[in-house]
Amino acid sequence: MIKTIIFKKARKLLEEQKVKVIQQTENKVLFQVDSNETHYVVIKQNHAVSYECDCEFYLRKAREGRNVMCSHVLACLIFMFNQIKKEKKDGGGGQC
Ligand SMILES: [Zn+2]
Repeated sequence: MIKTIIFKKARKLLEEQKVKVIQQTENKVLFQVDSNETHYVVIKQNHAVSYECDCEFYLRKAREGRNVMCSHVLACLIFMFNQIKKEKKDGGGGQC
C-alpha cells in the first residue's frame, strides 16, 4: 500500500502556508518550506521534471540511489499545481 503520510504532511504544509517561492526562472523554481526546519526544494523542468530537496530523508535515500519523494517536494508540486489552476481562473489570455 502506498504510504499516504507524505500526502498528509504535504497538505498540512500547504494549509499552514509554509511553502514559499523564493526564486523563479524559466525552467527552475526554488521553494522554501518551513517545516520543523527550513528546507529548500528545487523543481526543474528540462526534458522531464526533476526535483531535489535538502532534507535528511531525501538525501539519505538519494545516496542509496533510490527514487525518493519527501513531503516537502510533494507540497511544492501541489503548490505549483494550485498556482496554475489559479492563473487559469483569473482569466487573462484566451487560451482554452
Ligand atoms: Zn524534503
